[in-house]
Amino acid sequence: MSEYRLSSTLAVVKTVVAFFDVTEFDRESLSRLIKKTPEIEAHFYADELNESTAAKVKNVDCVSIFITSDITVSVLNALPNLKHIVCRSTGFNHVPMEAVNEKGITVSNVPTYGEHTVAEYAFALLLSLARKIPQAIEITKSGSMEHQGLTGFDLAGKTLGVIGTGHIGCQVAKIGVGFGMEVVAYDPKPNTEIAAKVGFSYQDMDSLLARANVVSLHTPYLKSTHHLLNAQSIAKLKRGSYVINTARGELIDTSALISALQTGQLAGAALDVLESEELMNIHEEILMLRAGSKQKLELAAEHAVLLKMPNVLVTNHNAFNSREALERINETAVANIISFIGGNTQNKVGQ
Ligand code: NAD
Repeated sequence: MSEYRLSSTLAVVKTVVAFFDVTEFDRESLSRLIKKTPEIEAHFYADELNESTAAKVKNVDCVSIFITSDITVSVLNALPNLKHIVCRSTGFNHVPMEAVNEKGITVSNVPTYGEHTVAEYAFALLLSLARKIPQAIEITKSGSMEHQGLTGFDLAGKTLGVIGTGHIGCQVAKIGVGFGMEVVAYDPKPNTEIAAKVGFSYQDMDSLLARANVVSLHTPYLKSTHHLLNAQSIAKLKRGSYVINTARGELIDTSALISALQTGQLAGAALDVLESEELMNIHEEILMLRAGSKQKLELAAEHAVLLKMPNVLVTNHNAFNSREALERINETAVANIISFIGGNTQNKVGQ
């Protein structure tokens, strides 16, 4: 719905952009960033983009979404003028790329907003797990100074296995070295220059699994990385090792993870992301119960089990969530829209 707005001197062609999943912080930051671009007509929605909210914006040229939006083919069909999907995230596996490509819709993402942000969070999870920080807080709040059950382990001297050494994985390796850990890494496209500079070594996957006390995942979710940690790969880990996942839930076979935690093959796990994590949202859970998919029902039950396990920490896909990262995400998303309007989209991942 490109609109012509006449001012006293010139006509401006408006690109209508609907921003979904918008928090108060986003609304303020995006409005400020867009202010100097009269070509953008912005509409903000706190809700996610789905079939029902798509009906409210059916003539938009562009939608901007966070990972909580569920883009299905029906959503795309409800937006006949859609030309650009602007992901305010690095991952774009929540966009049906085949359908999008068929329709000639451009997709852009934010490739590098949060290497420090997510890497720091991975260590926040690891330290919480290693030093039982949530349990210590609970005991202290209950009015006790008891240390029983709170004995943890040092990171210094342990081996950290980093799977995926892109933007985030390299930062994780750097922090690991800073903690006095030996860092080993696996990536099909090794960055030997950074490895030499930071002080970590590349291994094949099996050697990494055999050596690591802690494995931290930093690969995108692709067909080739589906269930990268499964019963077979977890069995190759040292008994009593730990897994940290701040990448995507689908990288781990949840059922195999629970079995390994139960038998002690894994001593603990800290998970910012879960397989089909949308089921953690009660509305989705109710919809799933009504639809009755056996696979989803099993996953919802597995989520409930993970939440109850004392050696598991689960957070709500929150690793990206620092003020600095949010501002960088919004800056890049707006720059992606402006470059698209100019005819040369930056950070294009589809079409
Ligand atoms: P990146 O693209 O910079 O790096 C990904 C690395 O993974 C690349 O070096 C690639 O070669 C490697 N890789 C691909 N397939 C692999 C495989 N089979 N085994 C090992 N390595 C493999 O991505 P990034 O910026 O470092 O982000 C990594 C992932 O983190 C994203 O794809 C996203 O899913 C996730 N993420 C999560 C949050 C959060 O809030 N939890 C925030 C940002 C990113």
